[in-house]
Amino acid sequence: MRKKIVAGNWKMNKTLQEGVAFSNDLKELLAGKTINCEVVVGAPFIHLSEVAKNFEGTQVHVAAQDCANKESGAYTGEISAAMVASTGANHVILGHSERRAYYHETAELLKEKVELALANKLTPIFCVGEVLEERESGKHFEVVAAQIKDSLFELSKEDFSKLVVAYEPVWAIGTGKTASADQAQEIHAFIRKTIAEKYGQEVADNTSILYGGSCNAGNAKELFSNPDVDGGLIGGASLEADKFLPIIEAFN
Ligand code: PEP
Repeated sequence: MRKKIVAGNWKMNKTLQEGVAFSNDLKELLAGKTINCEVVVGAPFIHLSEVAKNFEGTQVHVAAQDCANKESGAYTGEISAAMVASTGANHVILGHSERRAYYHETAELLKEKVELALANKLTPIFCVGEVLEERESGKHFEVVAAQIKDSLFELSKEDFSKLVVAYEPVWAIGTGKTASADQAQEIHAFIRKTIAEKYGQEVADNTSILYGGSCNAGNAKELFSNPDVDGGLIGGASLEADKFLPIIEAFN
């Protein structure tokens, strides 16, 4: 059956020293605790190696927040999927709405990134989600289905099975507004149905679909109690270990 996952996304926050301090804090808080979900920490590239080393032998995995759409070569400033994998990180967040909006990441580009991530044995956490106008005009189903189909539906069944999907309504990211538990369940079930139509029910049932958008210690339990919500991708509330911990414990 599919995994329950709580993944943090630090975005462009924390110096290297602050990132290492966070990993020490979280390790300490989790020591001796029974945790009923997989935990992932999405750190900036410069932290990956140190943080991954620090979490070795624990239940915490490390994710990059992006990777290049090229294998290697003259692409100044870029970080390839192979480089990410060489740090000990084993996940990569791809298609975050901030990357789509501010860095103009297209469906085609994301398709290339997903393929390279998978080729380097990274688990992509592939983000989808509509902006407010699309939600208000009832286009959110169509928008999310297109994001999934356009970047992911040329993958083989075997490769698709290695992905995690994160539904993040853009209007809820960093705004303090959350999708209601019913709204989250409705669109997560729709995403699962979309996957089932292409790859079959078994693949769809085994795909973890995370909710993201102002998820915190106060609302995580309610959101995660929906049958099709398999955990969360957490931004602001993942920046401090003692605020992140109760979200992880929402599965206890
Ligand atoms: C995110 O950026 O993935 C996110 C969900 O942010 P926040 O939790 O701060 O809304």
